[in-house]
Amino acid sequence: MGHLIPLIELARKLILYNNIYITFFIPNDGSSIEPQKQVLQALPRRINAIFLPPVSLDDLPEDTRLETRFVLTITRFLSYLRDAFKVLKESSNVTAMVVDLFGSEVFDVANEFGALSILFCTASAMLLCLTFISPELHETYSGEFTDLPEPVQLHGCVPLQGRDLPDPLQDRKNEAYGWMLHLVERFKKAAGIMVNSFFEMEMGAFKGLKEDYPGFPPVYPPSGSVLFVSFGSGGTLSSKQLRELACGLEMSGQRFLWVIRSPHDKAANAAYLSVKSAQNPFNFLPDGFIERTKNLGLVVPSWASQIAILCHGSTGGFLTHCGWNSILESVVHGVPLIAWPLNAEQRLNAVLLSEDLKVAVRVEANEKGLVGREKIAEYIKGLIEGNEGKMLKDRMKNLKEAAAMALKEDGSSSKSLIQVPQISIFNHSLTGDFLTH
Ligand code: UDP
Repeated sequence: MGHLIPLIELARKLILYNNIYITFFIPNDGSSIEPQKQVLQALPRRINAIFLPPVSLDDLPEDTRLETRFVLTITRFLSYLRDAFKVLKESSNVTAMVVDLFGSEVFDVANEFGALSILFCTASAMLLCLTFISPELHETYSGEFTDLPEPVQLHGCVPLQGRDLPDPLQDRKNEAYGWMLHLVERFKKAAGIMVNSFFEMEMGAFKGLKEDYPGFPPVYPPSGSVLFVSFGSGGTLSSKQLRELACGLEMSGQRFLWVIRSPHDKAANAAYLSVKSAQNPFNFLPDGFIERTKNLGLVVPSWASQIAILCHGSTGGFLTHCGWNSILESVVHGVPLIAWPLNAEQRLNAVLLSEDLKVAVRVEANEKGLVGREKIAEYIKGLIEGNEGKMLKDRMKNLKEAAAMALKEDGSSSKSLIQVPQISIFNHSLTGDFLTH
């Protein structure tokens, strides 16, 4: 249940933001499925659950550890899963399979049907760090980890004494120990790993996961990890600046969603002025950029639904041209900013954001008038995972709350609106009945 419940929560989140359907395939080892049935009741229409036939674990000795039971249950239910998946594939376009920590054997079935395999870690990011280095620990020490003379030092985490390692790693002779090492190898086959934790809670571990474990797939704390980049409804960059931005995004190593527009070397608001000049913006990107960043970012030409992106839990920052609407939308959704003003009153807005409200870091151009790629990467990393970003985010959170208060019935904006004379007359002279009509 401790694995099913967070997976259900994930499913609820996913359907909220995407027009998709989700099917749970539930394995079982013959024990009661009543509790699972209960939590799967009353789910939204787009989430469905299929209980596959029970597998038998009768051949296992009574003292078989839970972890071994979990893995064997999954291994033994693969043929049922394959059949059920086949049926599902006949009626729908199945794009991805999200798999529990103990379920990585299922990746092969996903592969067979051309679906992406994503691992969902129902434990902490710190546990994942430990998991990633457990084969190395296994090679380095021959004794039991409980007897380790020094604590284990995981990148970005506090030192961990051997006796505090998870149970299945405490007994080398037990079959479960071998299964753990086997699962870690399998993790490498996932297209990505989602962790049910969040960046601010395990900052060090998430940074470590990003940089220090080559060979493992990218790890995503489900919220606040994507930078949204957009210059309003018509802002454009010069072609040189566009390339610097692309390189900066790539160098930052952060995930991004970039609304790209064809560059213009004369006017920063060219797209407002002329639609005719619009060429394919992808032609102006550095060679191989899209391919190299395909697992990191998404580039969308011309237009995206900004509000839907800003209210999405995965959006952790917004690189904006500082149009006032974009600012208000960011405040209402609590998204901290990189301020990159282009023209009109946008520089003034950038001052307000970065020097007064302190919810944005403002970009600086070099002597050639360009914001360089290294600087861009620095701003982005600072915003998404740096300490400064955390401060900006905290202040933006306060501002978001203030905005919500202002909009309440007795909030400052609502009160001001009523004070506008005409609205006041309107408000007092008409009955509620009329207003509803
Ligand atoms: N917008 C959008 N998608 C885009 C670009 C812009 O939805 O790809 C919307 C954005 O949400 C905002 C408006 O267009 O409401 C732009 O207004 P703003 O004052 O920020 O900038 P301007 O376009 O006037 O420079």
